[in-house]
Amino acid sequence: MKSKENKPLLGRRDAVKTIGLGSAAMVSGGFGNFTGEQALQKEKLSKPPVGLPPVKIKSVKAIGVKSAPEGRGSNLVVVKVETTEPGLYGLGCATFTQRALAVVTAVDSYLNDFCVGRDADNIEDMWQSAYVSSYWRNGPVLNNALSGVDQALWDIKGKRANMPVYQLLGGKCRFAVDTYTSVSGSTPEQIADNVLKQMEAGQRHVRIQLGGYGGVGTIGRDPDFQAAGFGLPGDSFMDDQAYLRAVPRMFEGVRKKCGEEIELCHDIHERCQPRDVIQMCRQLEQYRPFFIEDPLSPENTKWWKHLRESTTVQFAMGELFNNINEFLEPMANHLFDFIRIHVSQIGGITPAMKVARLGEWFNVRTAWHGPGDVSPVGHSAQVHMDLASWNFGIQEGGTFSDFLRELFPGCVTKQNGYLFANDSPGLGIDINEKLAAKHPINNSAGNWTVRKKDGTIIRP
Ligand code: MG
Repeated sequence: MKSKENKPLLGRRDAVKTIGLGSAAMVSGGFGNFTGEQALQKEKLSKPPVGLPPVKIKSVKAIGVKSAPEGRGSNLVVVKVETTEPGLYGLGCATFTQRALAVVTAVDSYLNDFCVGRDADNIEDMWQSAYVSSYWRNGPVLNNALSGVDQALWDIKGKRANMPVYQLLGGKCRFAVDTYTSVSGSTPEQIADNVLKQMEAGQRHVRIQLGGYGGVGTIGRDPDFQAAGFGLPGDSFMDDQAYLRAVPRMFEGVRKKCGEEIELCHDIHERCQPRDVIQMCRQLEQYRPFFIEDPLSPENTKWWKHLRESTTVQFAMGELFNNINEFLEPMANHLFDFIRIHVSQIGGITPAMKVARLGEWFNVRTAWHGPGDVSPVGHSAQVHMDLASWNFGIQEGGTFSDFLRELFPGCVTKQNGYLFANDSPGLGIDINEKLAAKHPINNSAGNWTVRKKDGTIIRP
């Protein structure tokens, strides 16, 4: 390249070389002192990238707490990452409520040792290295533990930058985050009344479930397996054919009473046979569901194409996926419409945002999993991602009891069906550790055993 005066301009590489030599000369007192240049380069490279002092991880610990007083509610697990900068720490959700104590062990006995002394700034590097640190990987316990650290590092980075995390993810795409809430009931009329109450509270989207969650329990007659003494007394029963007949009637009843404006979702919870699901979804088309959630279990992946080609109903999927790679093929082939990820289950903000961005290319929207077994820290993380993702679809949940608000100061707030993050740096949420210590978790896991009439296990 030449200048206006026709003198050759230095290429970028030449310029760097010259500056490097000049600097080396200043340090070493003469050209050609290669050792001095190397020393200067080393000094340059060791400097923090943003003019802030380097921050190392000092400790990683799990905090287990019940979501309700007196031993009630779900087991929540939150990870606290402390740094070498006094007072600077981050929080992340690691809630796998059914195996909470296993996650606590993974965090306290393994991730703490792995993380201490590492750079708190390098989130991607931490995620990648921790992910393979046990060689055997990719399960819900380790993914949740990793999520706790990952989200805490995003929290720390936000605090370091003095910005909310959504700013670090690209800034707001919307003023707030629209949500759905769930209602259930034993009859279509009862459910319709409950939907009307939610509409009055400002909700534009409601998920409707007949009977027990996922159709378990109250639909159908007494199970024969219980009369025969098979299984345990607490095992649940599901008559899948009664369920399949009841769901279209539920939609019909709710549409009649609540009108066309309200958006309706429903969760099949992966409990029916693929052909039966196809037939039911065809019947549901006339009621225009916003989405049908988890129509197939992960063991029935090959049915996706048939399902997709058989109905125009929109689907949300992915709650039971363990690894972000599981999303690639179905998303690239447009097999579902909403990404249904339990963010801590997949390993935190870092991997979840990769799937969210992937969705932008294939017109698949986000619908992060947000029931009571996501901690308020996890809900905050989701709202930050929702704000910054163009292809956001809908967010589940986001209402908290007074107990949870005292336990987690800075919870996201809901108004008129919209969730708002507070604009504090990081995830904007804290934990009252003294109060948490009074409500320790236990090994209660709920009973996820659901059986057919003859006692056969149904996979959720
Ligand atoms: Mg679900």
